[in-house]
Amino acid sequence: MSQIEKIRHSLSHIMAHAVKDLYKEAVLGMGPATSEGFYYDFGNVKISDTDFPQIEKRMRELIKQQIPFQEEIKSKEEAKEMFKDEPYKIEIIEEMEKDKVSVYRSGDFVDICSGPHIKNTKEINPNAFKLDRAAGAYFKGSEENPMLQRIYGLAFENKEKLEEYLKMREEAEERDHRKIGREMELFLFDEEVGQGLPLYLPKGAMLRHVLMDYVLNTYLYNNHQIVSTPHIAREDLWQHSGHLKFYSGDMYGPLSVEERNYRLKPMNCPFHVKMYKSRVRSYKELPIRWSEMGTVYRYEKSGEMHGLTRPRGFTQDDTHIICAKKQLEQEIITSLKITKHIYHTLGMEDLIFKLSIRDPKKSENYFGNNKDWEMAEKALKSSLSSFGLSEYELDEGGAAFYAPKIDIDAVDAMGRSWQLSTIQVDFNLTSRFNMNYVNEKGEQETPFMIHRALLGSIERFLGVYIEHTKGDFPFWLSPEQVWVVPISEKNVSYAKEIYQKLREERIRVSLKGTSENLSKTIRNGELQKIPYLLVVGEKEEKEKKVNIRSRKEKQETKSLEETVEKLKKEAHAKIVAIN
Ligand SMILES: [Zn+2]
Ligand SMILES: [Zn+2]
Repeated sequence: MSQIEKIRHSLSHIMAHAVKDLYKEAVLGMGPATSEGFYYDFGNVKISDTDFPQIEKRMRELIKQQIPFQEEIKSKEEAKEMFKDEPYKIEIIEEMEKDKVSVYRSGDFVDICSGPHIKNTKEINPNAFKLDRAAGAYFKGSEENPMLQRIYGLAFENKEKLEEYLKMREEAEERDHRKIGREMELFLFDEEVGQGLPLYLPKGAMLRHVLMDYVLNTYLYNNHQIVSTPHIAREDLWQHSGHLKFYSGDMYGPLSVEERNYRLKPMNCPFHVKMYKSRVRSYKELPIRWSEMGTVYRYEKSGEMHGLTRPRGFTQDDTHIICAKKQLEQEIITSLKITKHIYHTLGMEDLIFKLSIRDPKKSENYFGNNKDWEMAEKALKSSLSSFGLSEYELDEGGAAFYAPKIDIDAVDAMGRSWQLSTIQVDFNLTSRFNMNYVNEKGEQETPFMIHRALLGSIERFLGVYIEHTKGDFPFWLSPEQVWVVPISEKNVSYAKEIYQKLREERIRVSLKGTSENLSKTIRNGELQKIPYLLVVGEKEEKEKKVNIRSRKEKQETKSLEETVEKLKKEAHAKIVAIN
């Protein structure tokens, strides 16, 4: 255990010690270290954050006394006698399997604990910890037990690290996509609709639409085709695909329709397989690249959901590539290039590539034959190096049971990495559904299938992206791109002319009224993160000019023609051919 972990753990004892000194009636629950500090649960007492300064003060006094931590071994009977006024401790002692109970004494405080602790409280920096928050918690985490009062503390090696952590947490709270989503009116969740099922308001829906339109058009321009499939399918399909056997924990229960059971789809793959199998396929058709913005539903426990980043219903930019063996490597390389291009356009250039392969010692745990696995793993490795990556993370044993894969994490503005993209080679479905094509020699051959989702889930991507950008989206992606703001009633017709010209360029523009004063409108535009405000008054109108206020460039005045030219050039993401 590292020194800071020992300090955090020891601080939980010291906090409990201080609480017992200050609140004689308090009884002890349990209290471990956490990844950024510690907590302790108390019964029979009500403590709120206004009490923290007093508890912290007492903790600092105790630390200053240079109290040693000493282990004592007791029999169960002795321990029960020692903790006779602590009902929760008695319960813990009674449940112990061993007959010896290890207790730690620090000054006049004792606790049941197996350590390890620091040797003496002088090892603790009294300025590098802080009580953080109070919350209710059931004893031993079970709803059948009484609710205790949990107090969380933070602790670091030094004051600077503690402050750095607090600053980062504040920054993360400010960037929280749920908060920004509310403030900017992008999306919401509604209890009666159900948890984890996002409702997009006009601005959020526009953002999502422009994003999906951009990626889908990039796929189409790069020789993919678009397909579309339903949200439910008969259980027989999920039986056939293996989902009911291997994935049912993530699926919702059956829907009965005319005495047959259906399921909401957790994945789009089996539908694409069915379409592939609808007729005989020739090598001349391969590779087939089918993309679908497919909405899937997966069961997440209510405690595990988190805004858009972990919902129950979400849409994937899902592509299935079905190809011949010799095409596999090139298809993966192109997919890597498309990923890089898309994330670059979105301003997330810092990507981490991870290759997950089989655990070579446990090849029996994986579906498919050894030769195919070796071949696919080799193809993934050499695609990564042809793509120009000599360094990537290698996860031996991280492959899915049906597939080796490349996962791609994007690093956000706070340095946090998020797994978003995945490129997987599948041996399971091709074999389960007996997929074939007629090769050059007129023989039946099994194709390879790649599952690919580059944004991954649109919802999860948007959640991450809102936090990355703080809601300050690039011009091409902003739900509202431009406001035209006439200074007075006299300039409204000129403003309308500008508005009309921008609309013709498919720019998302609004014409503002003159009922609010100018500075208020400009402040509102700033708050709503509108990329461009075009302000026109008498002077601008007379000279046929526009005053441009941009969020990212300095204010300037240009002719109407130049303004339209400038905006239309940047208003839409360019769709390019990759390779
Ligand atoms: Zn302890
Ligand atoms: Zn798939």
